[in-house]
Amino acid sequence: MKKKYYKIIIFILFLILILFYFKYKGNTTTLNDKIVNGIIYAEQLEHLSGLGLLDSQHIHADYKVFIEGKEINMSYPELQAPEWGSAEFWRTSGFSRFVHMHPGENQSGVIHIHAIGVRLGMFFRVIGGSLNHSCISFPELIQKQESVEQTYCSDSDNILQVLVNGEKIINPDSYLFHDLDRILISYGKISQTNEQMKSVGYQACIHSENCDE
Ligand SMILES: [Zn+2]
Ligand SMILES: [Zn+2]
Repeated sequence: MKKKYYKIIIFILFLILILFYFKYKGNTTTLNDKIVNGIIYAEQLEHLSGLGLLDSQHIHADYKVFIEGKEINMSYPELQAPEWGSAEFWRTSGFSRFVHMHPGENQSGVIHIHAIGVRLGMFFRVIGGSLNHSCISFPELIQKQESVEQTYCSDSDNILQVLVNGEKIINPDSYLFHDLDRILISYGKISQTNEQMKSVGYQACIHSENCDE
C-alpha cells in the first residue's frame, strides 16, 4: 500500500516538474522573440526612415520664433526634458529622447538632437506643434502663455519664413539639423527677418563644446 502512494507522489512531482519546464521555456521563447523582433523593427525602421539609433550623434541648434514681430518664448519648463530619466519615464512622459530642450543655464532656445536624421518638423511635433512650408502651429501651453493663435499660415499680408544661418529653407518640416545651426522661424513681414536672424543666440556651441575662442 505504502509503495503505491510513493509511486503516485513521484508521478505527481514529475508532472509538476514538466509543467514548470514548459512554462519557463514558453516564457523565455516569447521574450526572446520579442527582443529579436524589436531589433529587426529598429534596424529596418532606421533604414527606411533615415532616423538613426539613439545617441548615434549628439548635436545642438539655436532657434527663435517670431510671430508678427513678437518673439515667442518657447522655453517653458513643461516643454523641457530632464537630463536623466528612467526607461519608464521616457516611455510614458511624452518627451522624445531623440530631440528636446533641456532646463538650465545657457539652454534657452537650444535644441538638443540625440540621433542622426532628426528633422526640424520632428522637434515641433514632439512638443505638440507643427511646422511646414506655409504654416506653424503651437502647442496649447504656448498658445495660452504667449497669447498666440494655434496656427499661422502664409497669406497675402504675412509670410512664414524659416532661415538657417541666414539662408531661406524651402521645406522646414524635413530640414535635417546640423551642429550649431542658428534657426529663425518668422511669421510676418519679410523686412523684419534680417534683424531677427541676428538676434538668434550662440549657445548651441556651449553644449557641443565647440565655441570659437
Ligand atoms: Zn545636448
Ligand atoms: Zn538631451
